Amino acid sequence: MLKVEGLWKTYTVDGGEIPAVRGVDFTVETGEFFTLLGPSGCGKSTTLRCIAGLEVPNSAEITLGEIDLFSSRQRRSVPIHKRNIGMVFQSYAIWPHMSVYDNVDFPLKVKSVPDRRDKVMRALELVGLHHLEDRSATDLSGGQQQRVAIARAIVMDVDLLLFDEPLSNLDSKLRIQMRFELRQLQKQLGITSIYVTHDQEEAMVLSDRVAVMDDGNIVEIGKSQDIYLEPRKLFTAKFVGQSNLLLGEVVSADGANATVKTAIGQIATETHNSTAPSEGFLMIRPEHIPMSWTKEDLPSADVNVFEGTIVSETFTGKLMDYRIRVGEVTFEVQTPLRHALQNENRVFIHLPPERCVMLPKDTSGTS
Ligand code: ADP
Ligand code: MG
Repeated sequence: MLKVEGLWKTYTVDGGEIPAVRGVDFTVETGEFFTLLGPSGCGKSTTLRCIAGLEVPNSAEITLGEIDLFSSRQRRSVPIHKRNIGMVFQSYAIWPHMSVYDNVDFPLKVKSVPDRRDKVMRALELVGLHHLEDRSATDLSGGQQQRVAIARAIVMDVDLLLFDEPLSNLDSKLRIQMRFELRQLQKQLGITSIYVTHDQEEAMVLSDRVAVMDDGNIVEIGKSQDIYLEPRKLFTAKFVGQSNLLLGEVVSADGANATVKTAIGQIATETHNSTAPSEGFLMIRPEHIPMSWTKEDLPSADVNVFEGTIVSETFTGKLMDYRIRVGEVTFEVQTPLRHALQNENRVFIHLPPERCVMLPKDTSGTS
């Protein structure tokens, strides 16, 4: 559907060239919700703006369906108003002096599209604002203004929707509610969408697939669940959620099962694959580590059980966050339960083999 190949973009700053995107490749399938996730400044917006036609790449091949939107090879670039793309920004970018209706009607009016009223009202209904058509856009809450911007982006029959951190200006409760609304709307309309965010939870909730970006590169692309549960890169493990990382070396492997030698002893894993390194970091997420006062109370306590000492205990609202020291290694463990302290802070933790993932040592995004 959308194909981006070899996208390079540099900006000229004080006479020098600063690379913002360094050769990015990805494909988005028809109807897919695809997210670019990464820290601030990694090149997400630049990538999106090059697809929209708001920036001119140094080089790239960008095709949407059968159309070459931009091609360095063919020296071709479709002008922005001829790209059939809708875009929603963080700053709602709606026109304050116009009514809700006129804001949404604007793109139709410019292109003299027939049946405008039906189309506007349908778009307003989809975002739940049909009762506010006459309201001045300035008399709306942030959430309502963003709904107007979304209605305006979908009112034309666009081939592609682009979202650049559209929920970042909303308060946290509304942000969470709008995530679900946006996802439902996208599914209902089936419009291929690319979403940009630095918020990993937002990316997980919304996306079919996620591309993790760092420093102008795509580090890895995968389904949301795989990115979280079985990342392939150290950067992903660190950026997406929290992780415990132990230096380790695979000493034996048989299919998906591998044994990893670490500073606290041997650890069995069940996630070995052909791309897993034989040396690197063993990763396990804090919420995947059961803990207990007795060994017997742990599930499947026959392997990967370690005795440790509670170093600290923090209440985070949703979960209890424990630091547990095993030998020279400190684990972060998150559990919904508050364990009443006993036995002089001595506990047992279990590292479920199916939650232990081997990752390469390198932190750079490109390797
Ligand atoms: P993100 O959206 O991931 O935060 P951006 O794509 O906005 O990242 O920016 C990538 C890099 O390009 C950053 O280093 C940023 O400072 C730089 N940059 C972005 N836009 C411009 C611009 N118009 N002029 C100069 N540098 C820019
Ligand atoms: Mg940005």
